[in-house]
Amino acid sequence: MIIEKLLLHVLIVIAPVLSYSFLFESRKIGKSPYFLGILYGVSASLCMYFAYFNSGLYWDLRYVPLVLSIFYGGPISGIITLTALLATRTVMGGETLYLGYISASVACIVPFILYKYFWRFPPRKRIYMSIIAGLWPAIVQLLILLSYLYINSEVLQVDQDIYLYIAVFGIIQILAVVFGSILNEAVIERNLMKDEIRRSEKQHTLGELAASIAHEVRNPLTVVKGFLQLMEGEDERHKHYYPLILSELSRAESIISDYLNFAKPEFKKIETFSIAELVTELSILLNPYALKDGISLTHLIESDVKITTDRNQLKQALINILKNAVEATPKEGRVSIKLIPEGEQVKIIVRDTGKGMTKEQLSRIGSLFFSTKQQGTGLGTMVSIRIIESMGGKVEYTSKIGKGTKVSVALPLISSFEEDSV
Ligand code: ADP
Ligand code: MG
Repeated sequence: MIIEKLLLHVLIVIAPVLSYSFLFESRKIGKSPYFLGILYGVSASLCMYFAYFNSGLYWDLRYVPLVLSIFYGGPISGIITLTALLATRTVMGGETLYLGYISASVACIVPFILYKYFWRFPPRKRIYMSIIAGLWPAIVQLLILLSYLYINSEVLQVDQDIYLYIAVFGIIQILAVVFGSILNEAVIERNLMKDEIRRSEKQHTLGELAASIAHEVRNPLTVVKGFLQLMEGEDERHKHYYPLILSELSRAESIISDYLNFAKPEFKKIETFSIAELVTELSILLNPYALKDGISLTHLIESDVKITTDRNQLKQALINILKNAVEATPKEGRVSIKLIPEGEQVKIIVRDTGKGMTKEQLSRIGSLFFSTKQQGTGLGTMVSIRIIESMGGKVEYTSKIGKGTKVSVALPLISSFEEDSV
């Protein structure tokens, strides 16, 4: 029956993806368009070899490998598959040979045209495009078939079930294309993930190296700064340079300590303290910074609890978050801090009425060196998240562009420090 035959074809059609993704995955050949072209060519030829013959026609899924070959292997691969397909058809011969040529040439036009746009789309849209590209050869075949049947209606013994065949054929052809492209997309995603893992491993090593360099640089910097401060009072000629030199040195120092904090937060002094006190202290500390830009900074404390952690580190983490909130907020804007104890944890929520972030920015927040500011280092958020996560807490960002941002910090009352960070 036609269905069994066509299901066998589905298997033949996906065989190339399976073989190049699993057998030849790590080898260069697995990505060569020539190799893919040949694999899909073999697959198309096998489809034709096992075709279902009825009403003077061959019923098979030969165009599915062709479409997949053009899309996922590129034009070279497509041409090789097309050549294999035409060659097999020629060997098979028969009266309807010319129809085979016509339908093959017309069928490959749409996928070749679509290929130009194919890789500009995200994976899901690419699958939709494959459906269109798979539909097209089915329509071409159908039209050719109908006209052929119409012209030869007297000579030909046409099966009663021909329309059923056409329907089944069309559906299975589309299913096969979708299945093939989903598999291809899965392979692509798997490879991307592997690359990502490799890259992050490399970054990890680089990060450790950078941390040790930063550590080494910090000491001489402190010495230079100390001596400059001593010389500041004595050297009359260059005295107006000193404030600038010292402020730049402080900036360098703060970048280095931020970086070191990110690389390995150190929890030196664990103490039990009132979180409400810390929040109030932060609010007072940052108030001048906010007022300078005409921003009102308020805090609301629902109730107080004691928490056990490194006070200075937590303070640093919250300062970074608050500073970002103030920096993102325009004049007359508001920044608020809210403290809500919730059972075994405490929530600190920082809201601002600032410029907010796009989805893309939101997904990048907390990644190293991501900054949208001219003088930004892209370290602050990262450090905050690292510190809070090392304390066993969690930071969540929600933001609406133009409306503002909400940063929600959840902390356990007693910090459970990660092993390597204490
Ligand atoms: P920096 O402040 O040096 O740019 P951060 O790591 O502190 O580096 O912040 C990274 C980026 O995240 C900022 O440049 C900003 O674009 C974005 N960001 C952080 N907090 C907010 C916020 N509250 N509102 C809008 N954008 C924010
Ligand atoms: Mg910042």
